[in-house]
Amino acid sequence: MKAVIISIGDELIMGQTVDTNSAWLSARFADIGIMTIYHKTVPDDPAAIVLALKEACALSEVVVVTGGLGPTEDDLTRHALAAFLNRPLDLHPPSLERIRVFFKSLGKTMPAINRIQAMVPRGVEVLDNDWGTAPGLKMKVGKALVFLFPGVPREMMKMAERDVFPVFKSYGKAVVMTEALHTFGAGESTVAEKLGELMRRDCNPLVGTTVSRGVVTVRIRSEAVTRLLARKHLAATVEKVESRLGKLIFGRGEDTLAGVVGKLAGKIGVRVATAESCTGGLTAKMLTDEAGSSVYFEGGWVTYSNTMKTLELGVPASLIEREGAVSRAVACAMAEGALRQEADWSVSTTGIAGPDGGSDEKPVGTVWIGLGHRSGAGIKTRAECFQFPGSREMIRDRAAKTALNMLRLELLK
Ligand code: ATP
Ligand code: MG
Repeated sequence: MKAVIISIGDELIMGQTVDTNSAWLSARFADIGIMTIYHKTVPDDPAAIVLALKEACALSEVVVVTGGLGPTEDDLTRHALAAFLNRPLDLHPPSLERIRVFFKSLGKTMPAINRIQAMVPRGVEVLDNDWGTAPGLKMKVGKALVFLFPGVPREMMKMAERDVFPVFKSYGKAVVMTEALHTFGAGESTVAEKLGELMRRDCNPLVGTTVSRGVVTVRIRSEAVTRLLARKHLAATVEKVESRLGKLIFGRGEDTLAGVVGKLAGKIGVRVATAESCTGGLTAKMLTDEAGSSVYFEGGWVTYSNTMKTLELGVPASLIEREGAVSRAVACAMAEGALRQEADWSVSTTGIAGPDGGSDEKPVGTVWIGLGHRSGAGIKTRAECFQFPGSREMIRDRAAKTALNMLRLELLK
């Protein structure tokens, strides 16, 4: 069974509001084995809405439309629907009464313009809205069942949960289960190369990749007639992906790099400190974004100037003079300085985030990342140099994440 989702509103087309309704509806449809074949966003324009409805009803069995059921001049969805069905708009007195009561419950009287929300194309079923003013609408057009809901995400979700998904629960021939495995440290094409034929488009489970802020995510989608089978195939593919990508994978689902590092540190019982220059505290921020981080995060330094590196972390001024602040030696000395207190592990960053300050020898994006470890045998440090592309924001984000990833790989040993 196939679904089409249409979202309506000038604000969506203009980019002032992000269409979250379509994403949510598709994900919920996938849960019950209904495949969304496309999303369409159209402006508050009756002709465009009619065209979108025509196309959707011809190509799918379920159509969900959201938005434009409001009371104002620019909410034209009900007019477009009446035109599409070639039927007049009739007043639906029970809806008018509900809207009156809704306003009354807020201690207000209904503004006259809200009367339009009780107008319904003749013969169309009304779906009560217990969470707002505009009722939903439902009708059959050819082989397609069409639902219209207000655009307000909360109202739309409540109404879809009540009126849409239960209707199709028993229709769903397939169960869809998904998993997301997050990797860090390799580009999307490298990950794709390693996955090889697993990514063929005719495979079930289907394997694909997406990238967000340096994290390449492998998305696996398993479709089968029963939950048991879908889960079994999903697990088998997850295993194959894991064996090909190994430690590149840092987590799955809602996991973050910092969260995973925290969990590892917590499990082993070690504490972490940070010594940051070009990332300005971003690594510490990422670590402390995670609830419960006090268990493993000791604290951190933001030592931006050379003087601060010397005063706070004990990096010898002569070393900075000789090697430069952006160097292996300074990254190591910063990591070592961060271990002078209680921590067992430390990470340090020193680099050129740009847009200015680069040179031929050390272009913008050059970042030295240090790693320190204190054990019975004393303090050990090492550092690696990276060349990150992109804007200042991207360079700092990748640097902080790379520092966390280096620590993760050490803690895994
Ligand atoms: P209302 O009765 O509240 O006027 P409506 O059906 O007219 O409902 P809209 O005016 O289109 O809905 O949108 C109401 C609110 O919901 C707006 O804040 C809008 O930005 C938001 N919204 C509309 N469509 C979407 C969407 N697809 N995704 C996320 N938010 C949306
Ligand atoms: Mg609108």
